[in-house]
Order: sequence, then C-alpha cells, then structure tokens
Amino acid sequence: MEKRQFLSELRRDLVTGDWVLIAKGRAKRPNVFADLKKEKFSQPIRLCPFEAPQKSGNLDPLLVYDRKGRRKIFSEWKDNPTDWFLQVLPNKFPAIGQGVCEDTHEVGPYLVMDGVGSHEVVITRNHTKHPGYFSGEEMNLLVGAYKERYLALMTRECVKYISIFHNNGRAAGASLSHPHSQIMAIPIVPLDIRRSLGGSEKYYQNHKKCVHCVMLEWEITDRKRIIFENELAIAFCPFISRAAFEIKIFPKIHQSYFEKINENELKMFSEVLRISLAKLRCGLNDPDYNFYIHTAPVKDEVDWHHYHWHVEILPKTGVWAGFELGTGIEISTIEPEKAAEYLRKVKV
Ligand SMILES: [Zn+2]
Ligand SMILES: [Zn+2]
Repeated sequence: MEKRQFLSELRRDLVTGDWVLIAKGRAKRPNVFADLKKEKFSQPIRLCPFEAPQKSGNLDPLLVYDRKGRRKIFSEWKDNPTDWFLQVLPNKFPAIGQGVCEDTHEVGPYLVMDGVGSHEVVITRNHTKHPGYFSGEEMNLLVGAYKERYLALMTRECVKYISIFHNNGRAAGASLSHPHSQIMAIPIVPLDIRRSLGGSEKYYQNHKKCVHCVMLEWEITDRKRIIFENELAIAFCPFISRAAFEIKIFPKIHQSYFEKINENELKMFSEVLRISLAKLRCGLNDPDYNFYIHTAPVKDEVDWHHYHWHVEILPKTGVWAGFELGTGIEISTIEPEKAAEYLRKVKV
C-alpha cells in the first residue's frame, strides 16, 4: 500500500533523540529561497580593521600564510608585512582569556569557573571574498590553518574543547563584513557536544557501530539527499534537517578527531566544503550562513572513538520564532530531499 502523503513529517535524530518538523505542506519551490529579502552587509574598506591588521591595533599574528600560500616565520615576515593571504590573530575583544586553570567554585547555589582559554580570529586577505568564492588552494589553506591552530591550542593545560566556526553576514551574527573565522579554546565540553557524544556512545554500546557511519551508509545507498561527494568526503542535506538547506559534511572513513586528518584527507574535505558553500552562494543568491566543526573533545577521561567529526553548514533560511523557542523543535520549510536535489544541480 502506498504511504499516505501528509502535510508534514516529524523525524527523529538518531544521535540526539531530538525531533524536527519537516513542513511539506508549506514547502516552497527551492528557488523561492533565493528571492528571500536580504540585508546586504558590507562595511567600507577604509574602516576595516583587517586590511592592515597590525596598523589597526591588532596584535602580531600567531600564524601567517603569504600570497603564495607559504607558511611564514613571523620574524622574517614582519619585514614585508603586506605579503599575506591568511593571518590568525588573537581576538581583540576575546570572549575568553588567559588565566590559571582552576576547578569550579561555588557562588550561592551555583557553580562558577573563570573563562580561561583563547579566542583567535582567522582572516583572509580579500575584503569581500568569503569562502563561498574560494579557489581550491584558498580553501586548503583555510582548513589547514584551522588544523594548525587546533594542534597548537590542544596542548594548553585548561583546554577541553576547541570550537572552530565561521559566521558570514549580519543575520549569521558576524559583526564585521570582512571574511573571518574564529577559533575558541574553552575549559568545558559544551552541552550540544556532550549530547552528541552521549548519543553516539549509547548507539555504539547497543549496536557496536558508529551511528554516523550508519547514517552515511544509508545516505550513500539512498542517494536522495547527496549534494556532492569525492573519494573521501561527502556533503548532504541531512534526513533530520533542522533548517531549510542545512548541509552536513563528513569524512567517509570513520575518524573521531578533526586534527588527525592527513594532507590528502584535508584536501578532499576542503573540496567538498568549498563546493557546498559555492552551491549555496549560486543557488540561494549568496545567503548568510554559519558553519562549524564538530569534533571529539581535546582531553577527557573517555576515548571518543565512536564519534565521527564533521562540519555543519546552516544557511540563514529561517528564524527561530515562538514555536522553536518554546519547544526546541525546529521547522524546516523544505524537504531535505528537494533541497539536495536543487543544490546537486546548481553548477559552480
Ligand atoms: Zn576588510
Ligand atoms: Zn563513523
């Protein structure tokens, strides 16, 4: 018997147990999302603190790649400080800072700890060229810088989790229009990550398999939600999409820790990230977006071998309103199958 077509469908996340609502009845044609009214966010170059970062009061870079993509030693580079493609800077307005590692202390009935860690900014040279416009080489350098800083930060004493993310556009929370990513090393493992880790651990105990590998296997067999793939990485609109045109990118071979990727894996992953962002840019008329890496914690008592690191891209296709805030259930206004089919066909 053919399954009845209903207006909407609730789908349950295999990892977190959360439900999402896929609203088929309200589903729009995919290209309608390209016409959504957007506030263009562009600050003038002359006011931009990332054009000549050190002259604008930023500290010396922690990492520099020159225009040819070569890693530079700071003492050599500072004689010719205009030659850069990428710089990693300490954040001028850090949300978390240097300090002494300490345990929590009590304040009344509450637990409190100092915000010890580090907050860095990764900037690329061009004022308007966000990663959706990058060449293959440029994306390799960006992801390579993420990895290099991750490896440096994970050796610090208090660091438990390192969050790497990119906000593009005002609606995505960027305060500066100049393209920049951020890296925050923090002394706790955040709740969202804990829930995913807990979910994947539980699944592993019950099934002796990585829950993400099971999802990947099904996506690769079903094919309906795949956007782009190469030998080692794959991008798809997840079956449990929390927003219209959400994309997840996974390494195809099981791997828990982002920082352990080798050069070839990094290249393949970067290609899939680059093409996914370019497809969003071309298919949805350059939307604002966030992307971030989810990876196993740096130091913990547990071995997170059952976790599978990945990147999530969330284009700003909707806003959290009363229902979402009141229930935590997100409504996706297009079926991920339709979103993926549309993006798959976008030429970049
Ligand atoms: Zn700029
Ligand atoms: Zn896996």
